[in-house]
Amino acid sequence: MKILVVNAGSSSLKYQLFDMDTQDVLAKGLCERIGIDGRYKYSAAGKEEIKGDYPMPTHADAIKLLTKNLTDPEIGVISSMDEIDAVGHRVLTAGDIYSDSVFIDDTVKKVIRDCIPIGPLHNPANLTGIEACAEVIKDVPQVAVFDTGFHMTMPPKAFLYAIPYRYYEEYRLRKYGFHGTSHRYVSGKAIEMLGNPHAKIVTCHLGNGSSCAAVKDGKVIDTSMGLTPLEGLPMGTRSGNLDPAVLGFIGDHEGKSASEIVTMLNKESGVLGVSGVSSDFRDLEAAANEGNERARIALDMFIYSVRKYIGAYAAAMGGIDAVVFTAGIGENNGRIRAAIMEGLEFLGFELDQEKNLKTREQADVSAPGAKAKTLVIPTNEELVIAMDTMNIVLQRA
Ligand code: AMP
Repeated sequence: MKILVVNAGSSSLKYQLFDMDTQDVLAKGLCERIGIDGRYKYSAAGKEEIKGDYPMPTHADAIKLLTKNLTDPEIGVISSMDEIDAVGHRVLTAGDIYSDSVFIDDTVKKVIRDCIPIGPLHNPANLTGIEACAEVIKDVPQVAVFDTGFHMTMPPKAFLYAIPYRYYEEYRLRKYGFHGTSHRYVSGKAIEMLGNPHAKIVTCHLGNGSSCAAVKDGKVIDTSMGLTPLEGLPMGTRSGNLDPAVLGFIGDHEGKSASEIVTMLNKESGVLGVSGVSSDFRDLEAAANEGNERARIALDMFIYSVRKYIGAYAAAMGGIDAVVFTAGIGENNGRIRAAIMEGLEFLGFELDQEKNLKTREQADVSAPGAKAKTLVIPTNEELVIAMDTMNIVLQRA
C-alpha cells in the first residue's frame, strides 16, 4: 500500500510518499511560496535532490507539481497516481469533536471549517490542501490526522481555564494542546523502550515550537500548549506563559489592539525577543558562547522552563519513569538536554554525560542504574499519519 502524507500550510505544502509494506519513504518534497511565485524541492530514495522555481498560484498547482515529480520517468517513483491508495493530511484541530483520525467527508470538512477560530492560521490551509488533493488526485480516499487529537484525554481540571465557565460553553475556549502526533509517537516508542505500558512519562518536543506533555498509561493528562500554540514554554518567537495583565499593560501604554499584541507575542517574542539575536537555538548558543548576555539569559529561560514542566508533571502524575527529548533541539542538542536535566537527580534521573552529548538517534542516555530514564527519540509525525491513514482505509475496505 502507498500512502501520501500531506502537510499544507498557508503558502507551503510538504509531502512524503510511504511504502507501507516497508514503512520506507519513497519520495518527499516541499513546495513553498505558493500564491507568490513558487519554489520547490523534491527527492526520491537513492536519487539526488532537485530544486527550482515553478509557478504555483494555488495549492492545486503544488499538487500538480508533486504529481509530475512522483510520476516522472527519470526522478519519479510511481508510474501513475492511481498507485496511491490514500492521502493522509496533517490537520491542526477538530477542537474537541474528534480525537481520533477520521476519513474525510463533507461532515469532517465542516468540522475543520467550524474550528477555524481555534486554528486561524492552520485550519484554512489544511482545508485548502484537502480540496487541492480532491481536485487533482480524483477519488483517492483522504484521512485527517489532528495535531490536537492525542491531548483529548486531558481531564477538565487540566484543560479548563479559570475564567467564567460560559466562555467554555459558548466558544469551547479551553486548552487543546498541539504537537499531539509527535507526543503520541515518542511516548509510544518510550513505552516500548521501557517495557511498561503504565509508565509515567514527560515528553518534551523542543523545536522552533516547543511543548511538553505528561503521559500516564499511554494517555495525556496535561500538556503545555493551550487554546493556541502560544501557551507554555518560551519558544523561538513565541512568548509562552505570561501574566495576562501584560496584554492590558502594553495595550494601555502603546495603544495596541489585542490582536496586534498577540501577533507580537507569537512572532517577536520567545528567545528571539529576549536575546535580540535569533529564534534559532544554534545562533543563540553561538552568541551566548561569545559572551552575549541576553542570548545566555534567553537560553537559561528556556532550559529553566522545561525543567519546571518536568517537575510539575512529575507531581501531577505522582511520579516519573522517563523524560523523552524530541524535535530539532531535543534530538540534536545534548548540551541543552544536559542543562535541563541538571538538578533532577532527586527525581531519579542521572545522565551518561558522554553518551548524551553524542546522541542524535534513538537512545537511552541515562547513567547505568538511573531510576528514571532520559530518552532521546527522533519524532516521526509523518509515519504516524501514514499508519493512521492506512488503518482507516483498511477498516473501510
Ligand atoms: P524543529 O522545529 O523541530 O525543526 O527545530 C528547529 C530548532 O532546532 C531550531 O532552533 C534549531 O536551532 C534546532 N536545531 C536543529 N538542529 C540542531 C542541531 N544540530 N543542534 C542544535 N540545535 C538544532
